[in-house]
Amino acid sequence: MNGQNRSMTEPDVNPPARQAAKPLSGPQKALHKLGLVRDIDLALHLPLRYEDETRITRLADAREGEVVQIEATVRASEVKLGGRRQLLVTVDDGTDTCVLRFFTFYPALQKSLAVGHAVRLRGELKGGFMGWTMMHPSVQASGGALPTALTPVYPTVAALPQVYLRKAVAGGLARAELAQTIPPELEYENGQYRTWNLREALSFLHHPTPQVQLATLEDHSHPAWQRLKCEELLAQQLTQLQAKRERDRLRAPVLLAQTQTQARVPLPLHEQLLAKLPFALTGAQRRVCAEIGRDLARPVPMHRLLQGDVGSGKTVVAALAATICMDARWQCALMAPTEILAEQHFRKLIGWLEPLGVKTAWLTGSQKTKERREMLALIASGEAGLVVGTHAIIQDKVVFKNLALAIIDEQHRFGVAQRLALRNKLAPQNEVDDAGNDAETVLEPHLLMMTATPIPRTLAMSYYADLDVSTIDELPPGRTPIITKVVNDARRDEVIERIRAQLHQGRQVYWVCPLIEESEALDLSNATETHAHLSTALQGSGESGGSPVLVGLLHSRMPVAEKKAVMDLFISGQMGVLVSTTVIEVGVDVPNAGLMVIEHAERFGLSQLHQLRGRVGRGAAASACVLLYSTGEAPRLSETARARLKAMMDTNDGFEIARRDLEIRGPGEFLGARQSGAAMLRFADLLTDTALLDWARQAAPIMLDRYPALAEKHVQRWLGGKAQYLKA
Ligand code: ADP
Ligand code: MG
Repeated sequence: MNGQNRSMTEPDVNPPARQAAKPLSGPQKALHKLGLVRDIDLALHLPLRYEDETRITRLADAREGEVVQIEATVRASEVKLGGRRQLLVTVDDGTDTCVLRFFTFYPALQKSLAVGHAVRLRGELKGGFMGWTMMHPSVQASGGALPTALTPVYPTVAALPQVYLRKAVAGGLARAELAQTIPPELEYENGQYRTWNLREALSFLHHPTPQVQLATLEDHSHPAWQRLKCEELLAQQLTQLQAKRERDRLRAPVLLAQTQTQARVPLPLHEQLLAKLPFALTGAQRRVCAEIGRDLARPVPMHRLLQGDVGSGKTVVAALAATICMDARWQCALMAPTEILAEQHFRKLIGWLEPLGVKTAWLTGSQKTKERREMLALIASGEAGLVVGTHAIIQDKVVFKNLALAIIDEQHRFGVAQRLALRNKLAPQNEVDDAGNDAETVLEPHLLMMTATPIPRTLAMSYYADLDVSTIDELPPGRTPIITKVVNDARRDEVIERIRAQLHQGRQVYWVCPLIEESEALDLSNATETHAHLSTALQGSGESGGSPVLVGLLHSRMPVAEKKAVMDLFISGQMGVLVSTTVIEVGVDVPNAGLMVIEHAERFGLSQLHQLRGRVGRGAAASACVLLYSTGEAPRLSETARARLKAMMDTNDGFEIARRDLEIRGPGEFLGARQSGAAMLRFADLLTDTALLDWARQAAPIMLDRYPALAEKHVQRWLGGKAQYLKA
C-alpha cells in the first residue's frame, strides 16, 4: 500500500513484484496463509503473549514453577543411555546448581553445553529433592546485552518458526506507513489512548517495556490497545458509510402507493389487499409499512432490514410492499432460503393476491425444464408481476422485464456471496412509467430483507450500519405466550402422553429431530426411528378417541413433491403429528399446531431453538414447547448448552434471546455467513467497547465529509482488499 515510502534496498518479506519470479519459501507461504502480506498486515499481527528476557534471575532467589532466565557455567555433561536416551547437564550460577534435561538433542547443542561454557538459559524451573531441574530450556551463549523490552510470542503455524516471524513482523512494523489519519479534532474526548499515536501503540504492543502491567495488555484496556480498537472501529464505520453513500448515488424507480383518491379503476391492489385482510394490522406493522412506503417513494434504492420476531407478521408487510410495487406496474421478487418456505409464501401470497388478478411466477431449483421455461417467459415478458422462489431467482438465465423490488425472507440464511449476486443481478431494462421514471438512467431495484433473528444493537450499529432497520416489536393480539419446558430424555413417555392430550383436543404437534452434523445418514435414521416409534405409540389417539392418527415424516433428502405432499397434509389438518429434521426451521405457518417437541435440544443453537419454537403459539389457544435433552455419556450438559436451554425457559422475546445468544457465542459466530471471508473485528470487542463504537459512528461521517483523503487512506490501511465483503 505504501510503495513510495518503501526503500527498495531494504529486504522485504514479501515484495509483490518478486512473487511471480521466485517461488515462495515455506515460511513465506505460511505468512501468506496467515494473511500477512502487506507491511501493515505484519505490523497488525499482535503477540499472543510475551516472555520476559530482560532479567537474569539468581537460582537462589527463584521459585518453583517460575519461568526464568539464568546465566550459569556448565559443570558436567553426560548422555545417559539406560532407559530413554537423554542429555543431562549440570550448571552452576554461583548461588545454586541446576540440572538440565534434554530428550532430543543434536551435536551442536552438546557442543554449546560443553563443560566450562558460560550459557544463558531460559525455561521453567522445577524443584525436587534432587535440586533444581529444567527440561529443554532454550540455550544461548552468555554475555550478550539483555533485551530492554518483553519478547513477543506470536500466533503462528508449524511451518513458520517464531524467530522468522519475529523478524518479519519487526520488518513490517519498521516499514509500514503509519502516519496519523485521524484528525486531532475528531479524536475521542475521554480516550486515554489520545496520547498514543498508531506507531507508538504498535511498537509498544510488539515490544512492551518490562514495567507494563501485563493484565492491561491481556484485557486490552491499555491505551495502546484502545488506540488500535478506535482506529479499527472507525475503519469499519467508514466502509459502511461509504457503501451507504455509494448506494445513495444510485437511482431506483419511484414507487408511490396509489390511493383511492386517485380514482383508479380497478382499485389499486394495495387498497384491495388492505380491505381484504382478515385482521387489522398491528401498530408496529403499520409503522414499518409506512417506513417502507417512504423508501419506495424515493428515487434511491431502498436497503432496509425488516426485523421482527417469529410470528410477528412480516409476510403481510412484504405482501403490502409488493402491491405498491405492482400498482406502479413494476415487478416484485420474493426470495426464500428453502423450497418449503418459498412454497409457503407462494401459497399465502397467491391466496391474497391472485383473486385480485396478480399473475405469479414460481422459480425453484427442482422445477421441470418445461415449467421453468414457461415461468422464465412470464418473467421476461413482464406478465408475471410477482416472482416467488428460492435463490434460483438470481441465476443467470432469469431476466426480468422491470424488477423494482426484491424481498429476501430469512436473510440471515443467505451467504454474503448470494446477497452480492442478487444485488449485481438486478439490472433491469427500464421504461418510462406512470411515475415519470426516466429511461436513460439505469435503475436499481429496492431491496427489503427480512429476518426473525433480531440483531442486537451493537451489531446493528457496526456490521449492519449501512442498512436501515425497521422493527416489528409487537405480536398480533390474542397470542398466548408459549410455555417452554426442559425435560430429560428419560421422561420421553410423559411427553408422548402430552402429545396424546393435544391430539384429543384436535390440535397438531411438531416433533423435531436433532441435527447430527457429521452424518446426514445418522440424522435420517434417528428421524425414521422416532417416526416409527411415535406412529405405534399414538395409534388410536385421534380426536374422538378411536380415529387413526396420521404421523408424517419430513426430511431434507425427500423429493420435493413428497415433501410438499406431507406439508399439505399437515397444513390442512389431516396429519396430527409431523416428525421432521430441521427443514421446518423457518417460516412454516400452521396456527393449529399447539405443541413443539425438540429432541436433543442441547445440540441446537439458541436462535435456531427460538425459530423452531416460533412454529407454535400462532393462534389464540395456549401452546407449549418441550425441549428434550440428553447428556449422553457425560454426567451433565455443557455450560453453554445449559445457558441456551435456560434462556429458552426464561424468555419468549426474540430480542432478549438474540442478546443472550450474542453473549454465549460472541459476535463472530453470531454473524454466521456474513463474516465468512470478511474482516471481522480483530481488536475491538462489540460487547465491551460500546463507547468506542459510539465515538466511531459519530466521527465517520465528519471524517468522510471533511477529510475524504484521510478517510480513504484509513480504510485502505485497515481493510485493504477486504472492504468489498463488508458492503454485501
Ligand atoms: P413471521 O413474521 O414469522 O413471518 P407471519 O407473517 O408468518 O410471521 O405471521 C404469523 C401469523 O400471524 C400468520 O398466520 C399471519 O396471517 C398472522 N398475522 C399477521 N399479522 C396479523 C395481525 N395484525 N393480526 C392477526 N394476525 C396476524
Ligand atoms: Mg416469515
